[in-house]
Formats: sequence, C-alpha cells, structure tokens
Amino acid sequence: MSNLVVRQKELGPMDNFVYVVGDRDSREALVVDPAWDVPAILGIAEEMELKIVGAMLTHTHPDHCNGVAQLLEATDCKLYVHSEERGQLPEFKENIVRTEDGFSIELGKMEVKFLHTPGHTPGSQCFYIQDKLVSGDTLFIDHCGRCDFPESDPGKMWQSLHDILGKLPGDTTLLPGHNYADRAPITQTTLGEERQHNKYLLCQDLEQFLEARMGR
Ligand SMILES: [Zn+2]
Repeated sequence: MSNLVVRQKELGPMDNFVYVVGDRDSREALVVDPAWDVPAILGIAEEMELKIVGAMLTHTHPDHCNGVAQLLEATDCKLYVHSEERGQLPEFKENIVRTEDGFSIELGKMEVKFLHTPGHTPGSQCFYIQDKLVSGDTLFIDHCGRCDFPESDPGKMWQSLHDILGKLPGDTTLLPGHNYADRAPITQTTLGEERQHNKYLLCQDLEQFLEARMGR
C-alpha cells in the first residue's frame, strides 16, 4: 500500500481546491495552495494526525495563497514558490524556498517533484507525487488555466500542456486547482481521460490551441 494520503477540499467563492498531502509513516504533510479557510486546512491535518511541514504554491494569484500568513503563523513551515513567479511574497521571506524545474523535496520516503509549467503565470508549477499530479491553474478537468492575464503566455501554456504534462503517464491522477469540470460533478480524473475529453489537450498544434483558448 502506498504511504501517500491526499485530501482534497473545495474552499472559497472561486471553487478553489486546497490539498493536504501526507505520508502515513512519518505523519508529515504538505499543503498545496493554502487559501480561504486556514482553520479548515489545519483541521484536516489534525483529523488525519498529520503535522504540516511545508506549503507549496502552484502560483501566487491571491485565490491560491490568501491563507499563507495565517498558515505560517500557525505552523512556521517552509513555503515553496517558483523563482520566476512575479509575486514573491517578500513579507514571508524567512520561510520561502525558491524552486526551479526539477526541484524536489522528500515527504517521508516519497519524492515530490516540482514541474515548472509556465503559461497561466511565469512561475506556475505542478507537483508530481507518485502517481498523482497537483496541477494548480495549468490544467483543470475539461479546461486549462486562463492565458489572458498580463503575465500570461499562451504559447508557454501550450508547451506546458503538450510537452511537459503530455509526457506523464495516462494513469496519473489529476488533482486540479479549481472545481471547473463541465462533466458530471467529478473532482478528480486522470491525464488519460483528459487527453480524450479536454478540448485543449485535443488540440493538434499551437495554432489550434490559440484558436481554442484565445479565440484567434
Ligand atoms: Zn490563477
């Protein structure tokens, strides 16, 4: 049996998914995108008898990190933010660890791999843990992240989806950053299923992707 335990919690007015990712042996946990309701996040960790040792940000849009201050106050844990992300949250610099593509950390005996997936923002990153991918605002069920923010880059989004996430095994569980599924109320899927259903992953090339995502 895998040591990995993952709890998905939908929080806030924008249907964000926050994750508590834990290891059964060491009882250590990482929080992905602490936002909206920190007492609820702390409550999950407590209920699962896990100690929060770190928080990882998929990116620094406020709906993914507006709970950082409160989480750090409660746990004083490390905060992993990609080095190319615009918002570097200077007020938390004592806790911040800047990450790069290929960065990894250990959770018990498991490895958490950081994949740099720019596009939605310059420093967007996904977390790959065993057979699970926490994808932030890069890939959702049926959708992908917006690419029309000033800091967005639709060409890079295409590369991230096609060249980076496209190389991961089809049986990888996809754990997205928002509950945006058009299909029945599903909150998790696999990359293989998305490759069959998600119109952005069905695009054949950048041109088709720009047409689908940006309407041009
Ligand atoms: Zn975002």
